[in-house]
Amino acid sequence: MKIGLEVHVALPTKTKLFCSDPTSETAEPNTNICPTCMGFPGSRPVLNKEAVRFAKSISIAFNCKVNKLISFIRKVYFYPDLPKSFQITQLAESIGQGGLIILEKKQIRLRRIQIEEDPAKIIRADGYSFIDFNRSGIPLVEIVTEPDIETEEELRETLFTLRTILYYLGVDINQEIKADLNISLGEERIEVKNVTGIKNLITAMEYEIHRQNEIIKKGGKPEKETRLFDEQSSTTKSSRKKESEEEYGFIFEPDLGVYDTTDLKETPATISTDAARLFAKKYDSNYKTILELIAFDRGALSLIQEYEGKYDFKTIIATLEVIKRFDEQRDSRIFEGIAKLVKDNIDVTKAFIEKLKKREKIEIKLHSQEEIDNAIKEMLLSEKDIIKKYKHNKNVANFIIGMIAKRYEIQPRAVSSRIDEIINKL
Ligand SMILES: [Zn+2]
Repeated sequence: MKIGLEVHVALPTKTKLFCSDPTSETAEPNTNICPTCMGFPGSRPVLNKEAVRFAKSISIAFNCKVNKLISFIRKVYFYPDLPKSFQITQLAESIGQGGLIILEKKQIRLRRIQIEEDPAKIIRADGYSFIDFNRSGIPLVEIVTEPDIETEEELRETLFTLRTILYYLGVDINQEIKADLNISLGEERIEVKNVTGIKNLITAMEYEIHRQNEIIKKGGKPEKETRLFDEQSSTTKSSRKKESEEEYGFIFEPDLGVYDTTDLKETPATISTDAARLFAKKYDSNYKTILELIAFDRGALSLIQEYEGKYDFKTIIATLEVIKRFDEQRDSRIFEGIAKLVKDNIDVTKAFIEKLKKREKIEIKLHSQEEIDNAIKEMLLSEKDIIKKYKHNKNVANFIIGMIAKRYEIQPRAVSSRIDEIINKL
């Protein structure tokens, strides 16, 4: 199995890639527009230096060779979101060449990092197609990997690593990762276009592996095509049989010429993935857990740095996981309140956090083993069909634990350690 990614990242510049229109996303449709980003004949693109600077920083952060001289090409195709009939992008003389995404135990090779313009946005409603040109000309960077990803865990780690590095570079802070996924179990390349978010990318991958496997099992061959991910059904659907890359027209973009990137000062990549690596080594902790906690959460990273040495590292990580689960504020008071509970092995509930916030005292009722066992028995006997369900599916335990914890105010942890034994005796 071979998996490659084409990740699209919007650059946080104030103005568009080739004109001086603002990039603001909240503007009324078709208000941030001009002849250049509408593709009028005779209009001329002027390169946004700040976008190139960001792209250079990203290329350096991903270990690419940065091209001193870059040029642009026209990728010619016809579609309503592209009235000039070509997209300005890069290929051979792109800003970044080669490069690596460094995972814990593997490296994913990059083919290149290129700068390109976003086409307009097509909105389909009431049987009509509307076009919003505000998005036309938004600067993007496309990060293209080699098909080096081989498992779901590797895809997950690659996405979190990408996201972390971009986030700490100050790029793409509020947006979810957007990517095309190439998944080939057979010989032909199957592309799943425009998937947004790490969760959806992993779901799309799982679905495609299953779908292509089924075809191969029946003696068939998965066909070369482009597919679209459908979030509602968690499946992919055929969109079009793919034209090969050669079928696009590629010509040199004469209006932009050759651009020298030497003098652009890059933003140095900050701590990010290195920090996760360092903490994991220093405290013999799980690298991926730390990476996923800090991936797009500067607050979580700050809390680790603030409490490192003051608390046991395990407590810090467990506390941050609770904060993430309840999506609570990354502040010291909440952290300390939760850490205290975590340290004493107490299950943190939403109710506890509410009390913490209101500065109310948290009282933990202590129950004897007998009280706990009796509560479990009582509960199970009043809901007898649960026992049957549990014997078929142990996941029912979570439901039972939740009910007992709520009804008798007993710590879920105390219930979960006893439940199996008690059910088997009933
Ligand atoms: Zn414009």
